[in-house]
Amino acid sequence: MESKNSSLLVVVLAVAVGIPMSLIILLAILFQDEQDRAVATDCAGGSGSGAIGGDMLAPPGSFIKPVDPSLVSFTSGFGERWGEEHQGIDLAGPIGTPIYAAADGTVVDAGPASGFGQWVVLDHVLGGQLFSTVYGHIDTYLVDVGQQVRAGQQIATIGNRGESTGPHLHWETWPGGRVGGSAVDPTPQYDTAPAPGQTPDAPDAPALSDPDVADLAQAPLVSAGAAADCTTAGGGVGDALAAGSVPPEFAPWISQAGGLCPQITPSLLAAQLQAENGFRYGDDAPVSYAGAGGPAQFMPATWASYGADYDGDGTVDINSIGDAVIAQGHYMCSIAGQVDAWIADGSVTAPNGPTELYLAGYNAR
Ligand SMILES: [Zn+2]
Repeated sequence: MESKNSSLLVVVLAVAVGIPMSLIILLAILFQDEQDRAVATDCAGGSGSGAIGGDMLAPPGSFIKPVDPSLVSFTSGFGERWGEEHQGIDLAGPIGTPIYAAADGTVVDAGPASGFGQWVVLDHVLGGQLFSTVYGHIDTYLVDVGQQVRAGQQIATIGNRGESTGPHLHWETWPGGRVGGSAVDPTPQYDTAPAPGQTPDAPDAPALSDPDVADLAQAPLVSAGAAADCTTAGGGVGDALAAGSVPPEFAPWISQAGGLCPQITPSLLAAQLQAENGFRYGDDAPVSYAGAGGPAQFMPATWASYGADYDGDGTVDINSIGDAVIAQGHYMCSIAGQVDAWIADGSVTAPNGPTELYLAGYNAR
C-alpha cells in the first residue's frame, strides 16, 4: 500500500527528529498578527481596510511616496549642503501631516535620534534586496521597533524636532540597508512613486543609474490597473508577523520568504525558526549533532541545493539570516509542492491539513 507507506515514512521521520509538528503549528499562530486576520478576510480594496485610521494602504510590493505630495513642498535635495553631506531630501509641510511607510517592511528604529529629534527607520526587502528608509524630524511616531508595516500605513507625522529650521520630513533611502549600505538620492524614486492612496498609471521602472536602486525599481511594483489582490503570493498579506514577535533582523527576510508560495506563510516560517534554532545565527548558531547548521538548521546536502546568496553580500552563508531564511522558504515551497501532489494522487492523506506534512518533510531532510 503505497499510500500508507508514504505517509508513514513522513510521520516516522518527523517523530524521529523529535519536534512535534502540532507544536510548530501552534507556535505559528502565536507569531501571527491578530489584526492581520481581519485584513485577510476584509481586503478587497487596499485602502485601509482592517487597519488603523489614516492608512493609505498600497498593494503588496508597492513603493510609494512617504507623504501626500499635495501637502508638502520640496525644499532641499540630496548632496552637499552647507558644507555637509545631506543624505536625504526635505519635504516641508504642516506639523501633523501624515507620513506613510514607503514600502512593506519592518520598523528597526522609532523614537529619539540625535540631529533628527525623532525618527523612524524601516527595513524593506524588495526584489530580493534589503534597503532602508529613514523618516526624520518627525513630530509623533505611531509604530514600535519590530513591528511589521505595510506600504501606505501611517507611521508618523511631520514635525520640527531636532536640528530643523521648519516643519518638514527629512527622507532617506539606503540600498543595502542603513547598516552596511549607503544613502542614495531618493529624488528619482520620490518623483516616480505613486502618491499614498493612488494607483500608478504605468508600471514603468524609474530610470535610475545606481544599480542597487535600479534593482529596487524592478521590484514587483503595482501593475497598471491591478487592484490590490489579497491572495497574491509575495505580499504576505493575510499572515503578517505579530509586532515584535521575531528579532527585527529576521523580520524582513521571513516576510519575504513567506510570500514565495501560497502554502507557506511568514508565521509558519517564524515558528520553524523558533523550533529549529531559537533564532540563533552566526557564531550563536552552532552546528547540531546531526550536522545541521545555521538559523534554519540546514543539512549540508540540502543547503547545497537550496543555499544561495540571497542577501547579496557576495557569499553563500548557511549562518547568515538572509541566505538561510530565503533558502528555508524555497525549500518549504518545494516540499509543499511535493506533498500537495501526493495528496492529490491519493498517496498520502492529511486528516489534520497539509501543513503538518510540510513541516514533517522539512525535518525529514
Ligand atoms: Zn534633511
